[in-house]
Amino acid sequence: MLLGEADRGKTTNMTPPKLPQRIGRLEELANNLWWSWHDEARKIFRSLDYPLWRAGGHNPVKVLREINPETLEAAANDPDFLAAYDSVMSAFDADMNNPNTWFETGYHGLLSGPVAYFSMEFAFHSSLPIYAGGLGVLAGDICKEAGELGVPMVAVGFMYPQGYFHQHISAEGWQEEYYRQLDFTEAPITPLFSYRELGATAQLRLANTPIYISVWEVLVGRTRVLLLDTNLEENPVQYRQLSSRLYTADREMRIGQEIVLGIGGVRVLRALNISPDIWHANEGHTSFMMLERVREEVEKGATYSEAMKRVQTKTVFTTHTPVPAGHDVFPLPLVEKYFSGYWSALGLDRSTFLQLGQQSAASPDFNMTALGLKLANHRYGVSQLHGRVTRQMWQVLWPNTPEDEVPLGHITNGVHVPSWIAPELYYCFEDCMGKDWIDHHDDPALWERLADFSDAMLWRVHLQMKRKLVGFIRDRMRGRWIDDNVPWGQILAMGALLDPEALTIVFARRFTEYKRPFLIFRDIERLKRIVNNPRWPVQIIFTGKSHPADFASKHLLHQVYSLAANRDLQGRIAFVEDYDMHLARYLVHGADVWLNLPRRLQEACGTSGMKAALNGILHMSVRDGWWYEAYNGANGWAVGPLQVTDPDKADELDAESVYSLLEKEVVPLYYRRDRNGVPHEWVRMMKESMRSIIPRFCARRMLKEYTGRTLKAAASAPVRDSPVT
Ligand SMILES: *Cc1c(COP(=O)(O)O)cnc(C)c1O
Repeated sequence: MLLGEADRGKTTNMTPPKLPQRIGRLEELANNLWWSWHDEARKIFRSLDYPLWRAGGHNPVKVLREINPETLEAAANDPDFLAAYDSVMSAFDADMNNPNTWFETGYHGLLSGPVAYFSMEFAFHSSLPIYAGGLGVLAGDICKEAGELGVPMVAVGFMYPQGYFHQHISAEGWQEEYYRQLDFTEAPITPLFSYRELGATAQLRLANTPIYISVWEVLVGRTRVLLLDTNLEENPVQYRQLSSRLYTADREMRIGQEIVLGIGGVRVLRALNISPDIWHANEGHTSFMMLERVREEVEKGATYSEAMKRVQTKTVFTTHTPVPAGHDVFPLPLVEKYFSGYWSALGLDRSTFLQLGQQSAASPDFNMTALGLKLANHRYGVSQLHGRVTRQMWQVLWPNTPEDEVPLGHITNGVHVPSWIAPELYYCFEDCMGKDWIDHHDDPALWERLADFSDAMLWRVHLQMKRKLVGFIRDRMRGRWIDDNVPWGQILAMGALLDPEALTIVFARRFTEYKRPFLIFRDIERLKRIVNNPRWPVQIIFTGKSHPADFASKHLLHQVYSLAANRDLQGRIAFVEDYDMHLARYLVHGADVWLNLPRRLQEACGTSGMKAALNGILHMSVRDGWWYEAYNGANGWAVGPLQVTDPDKADELDAESVYSLLEKEVVPLYYRRDRNGVPHEWVRMMKESMRSIIPRFCARRMLKEYTGRTLKAAASAPVRDSPVT
C-alpha cells in the first residue's frame, strides 16, 4: 500500500501539542527514546494519562497528541508532577551533555568522526516497529549503550511504514499474517531532510533509474539514527515500496533495499556532511556500504587496491549467521542487472567484481557475507563458539591459513541492562547497592553484594513480576475476545488458565526447525505427568513467529498450538500471539525458567536468555551460543551432552535430559519452600545466575570490547594520513 504525501504526517511539520510553557519540554523528551529506559521518565508520561498510556502501547508521542489540554494544564500546576518533571529533565540534560563519559575519559581524540553503524533493522521500542527480532534488538541495544558510554555513533537504517508482520492464530491453529500501517505522526520520528534538500548527493540509480531518498531522524539518547525512506512520489512505483517492509522474500526487492541502505546510506551521510571515521556493518545485508566507499576513494584518485585497503582498515563487520542457508545471497544475473554500471567506477571488470561476492569457486551466487569479510579488516562472530564455527565456515577465503588462525574473532553479544531490567528490580537494587549501581553494572565486584540480599525480598519482587506477566497475557486475550469474538477454545490455548503460582517455563523464539519448539512434546505422556502434577504444577508459555515463506515452521507452530488447545494438557500449555518487544519485556521479567533448545552450532549467540537472566530467571538450554561460555554448573541448567552430531540422537538425548532435569531438579527445587513460602535454594540460584551473567553479558561490556579492540586498531591505522597517489 502506498501513501500519498498528504497521509505522510510529519513530512510537513506536524502540529505540536499545545504544551503549557512550564512543561514545554515534554515534547522533546517524548521524541528522544532516552525516556524508554528511564523509569522515572516513563512514569511522567504514564502519570499524565494512564488509560491513554496503556491504550497506545506506552507511546509518549501518542499520549501528547491525544491528551486533553485541561489535563496538561492541571499537570503544569501540580507540584508533585512538576517535581518529577524537573528531576527527569535535569537527569536527561546531564546525560545528554555529560562531558566525562567513559569514552571521553579513556579514548579522547581517538576518532576523527563518529562510528557509522549500518543495520537493516533496529529495535528501540515497540512504538517504532522497524525490527523483526534478535538482530534488531542487538542493533538497538548498541545504539543505546553507545550514547551512554559516549561513543560517538550515527546509525543508518530504514523507516518501514509496515515493519515486520503481526501474527494472529486462526481458530484452526494456523498463523495468519497481517501488516499494520504505522501512523508516522504517532512515531518518535522527525523528518530530517527530503530528497530536495539533500540534493543529488543522496541520489542513486537502480538499474538505470534514479531513486531519491528522504531521511527521518530518531534520537536514541545521544545517538542519532537516520532512517531512509524511498516512498516518494518522484520514485517509480516498484521502488517506492522498497522501504515499506522488512525482509521481503522477493530477491529483487531485497537487492534494491540493500543497495539503498548501503550505497544510499553512505550518500546520505555525505549529503549531511557527516564524516564517519569508522564504519560498522551489522550483518551482510549492509555490505554494499563498503563498496560505495571504495568507489568514493577511486573517484578521489586512488587505485582500486589502495581504495580497498583504506576501506578495509576502517571497517568493522559482524556476522550473525552460523548456518550456510542463512546467509544473504543473490543470483548473479540480478547482481549484473543492478551493478553493470557500477563496477567500472570501482576500476573493476565484471568478473573481478563478481568475485568479490564469491564464497568459493564452487558457489555461483553473490554472497553478502563474503563481500563483508573481504572488505572489512575487523571481522567478528557474536559468541566464542560462533567465532569458531565462522572461522571454519569461512576458511575458504583464506585457504592457506590454518583454521584457528583465520582472521576472524568474536565479541560476545550483550543486552542493554537499563532497557531490559524490570523497574521493580531496578529499585530493589538501588535500595541494596546504592543509587549509582547502574553506572557500575559491568563491574563483577558489584554483583558479589547480591549474596547479602534478603531472599524473601527478591522472591517477593519476582512474584510481582509473574503476576504482571499473567495479567498482561490475559489482557491480550481479553482484547481478542472482545474485538474479534474468537471462540473459547482459542482463548484457552492463548493462556486463559495460566496460574501465577505455578512454575512457569517460557519458550519465546522464532519458530524454525533448528530451535526445536516441538522437542518438549517428544514424549507426550511424560510431559503430561510433569505439567499436570496436582501438587507441583508446571506451565509452559510458547510464543514466536514463523517466517511467512517457511511452511515447515508453520506446521511446527500448528502442532504446538494444537497441543495448547488439548484438554489432556489441562491448560498448562499456552501459545501467546504476536511475539514482539512489548511482550518480550513482560516475559523476560516474569518467567521462572527460560528454555532454549537449538540444534548444536546453529545458535549464533541468542540474547533473550540474557535479558531473562538479568531479571533472575534461570536459564535452561543446550550449551550452544552464549550459554556455551556462560554456564558454570550453578547458574542454570545445561540440556543434553556438550556434543552430539547425529540429529536424531541429539533429539532423543536432549528430550530425555529436559524431562529428567524437570522431574529431578527444577520442579523439586522450585517447590521446596520455607514456612513463608520462600524457596531459598531457588533464590540462591537466581543470585548466582545474576552474579555470573549480568556483568559479562551486558551491552556495556560488549561495546567496551568493540571500542577497545576494534576502534583502537582501526583508528590508529595510518591510512587516514597516507597520501593519495
Ligand atoms: C531479544 C529478542 C529476540 C532475540 O532472542 P533470541 O534469544 O535470539 O531468540 C527476538 N525477539 C524479540 C522480540 C526480542 O526481544
